[in-house]
Amino acid sequence: RAKDQGRNNFQLYAAEMNSLSFERLALGNMLRKALDQEELLVHYQPQVDLDSGEIFGMEALVRWQHPELGLISPLQFISLAEETGLIGALGEWVLRTACAQNKAWQLAGMPPLRVAVNLSARQFKHTPLIDTVAHVLEDTGLDPQYLELELTESIVAENVEATITTLRDLKAMGVQLSIDDFGTGYSSLSYLKRFPLDMLKIDQSFVHHINTDADDAAIVTAVITLAHSLKLKVIAEGVQTEEQLTFLRAQRCDKVQGNLFSKPLTAEEFGKLLHKKKEERWDGLLTKGVSY
Ligand code: C2E
Ligand code: MG
Ligand code: MG
Ligand code: MG
Repeated sequence: RAKDQGRNNFQLYAAEMNSLSFERLALGNMLRKALDQEELLVHYQPQVDLDSGEIFGMEALVRWQHPELGLISPLQFISLAEETGLIGALGEWVLRTACAQNKAWQLAGMPPLRVAVNLSARQFKHTPLIDTVAHVLEDTGLDPQYLELELTESIVAENVEATITTLRDLKAMGVQLSIDDFGTGYSSLSYLKRFPLDMLKIDQSFVHHINTDADDAAIVTAVITLAHSLKLKVIAEGVQTEEQLTFLRAQRCDKVQGNLFSKPLTAEEFGKLLHKKKEERWDGLLTKGVSY
């Protein structure tokens, strides 16, 4: 799996620590300091609309720039943040940073884009999420339609009725809602009809082998059909090859995200990319080898 890549020394270190709560606590303190000392940063990965060939948005992905250990993946510290209760502060920081950055690009004259921010299930449950989102939007001046919140299926495991109420409140504020890593969770399909969603994100574990694994191809095709029947948009994550893109286009997938287009970029790099793509779209990539 892609998520298993990008390991560094820290990974081993972190794996050993799963069993050592004392040392995990120490790591938690390191993370707390990182938040205070501004060692965290947000990268942005473009999301491309397959009809227009244009960047329509980006996913905000948090990174930890540790002075000695280097760049640490969120896979290695999000769960720690959840366990130590830091996820509330960390999540709010990411949300605020992403919304402020998005607004700054709009003020700089870029075509308005939608920024997608990941929410962890625990964040969803414990923090006064509605207030936080409302305050961040107010403080940054970002129009709610340019914020998308990515939820995972695990939020459903908690309390369905409370979840629906929260989602409806968020929707009433005008933000977009999507389900991340769709198909990897254990939840029932019935919530798809009860939750006020806008988009499903097909997990990259299904996308990576669509051209060689008939089961993955069938699952992806079924998810696209399901999404469209429910009037939801669908985005495929982890698109790495032109063959994958061709398959997804043929199945009428709406949007794509992945290293074929761009890896996650620093805010500065993303700004430059936007500038370049204002003129030139992903046309070459999108017209090549596509057969309907
Ligand atoms: P995710 O939300 O499913 O994000 C997509 C992940 O796939 C990112 O990993 C991205 O870098 C990676 N990716 C995108 N395209 C490709 C590709 O073509 N090939 C491969 N191999 N990988 C690709 P990343 O940045 O390491 O983040 C991992 C996970 O950490 C995220 O998965 C998300 O669940 C979590 N995460 C990241 N930032 C945050 C955050 O601010 N808050 C919370 N709660 N979770 C976050
Ligand atoms: Mg995500
Ligand atoms: Mg995902
Ligand atoms: Mg995920």
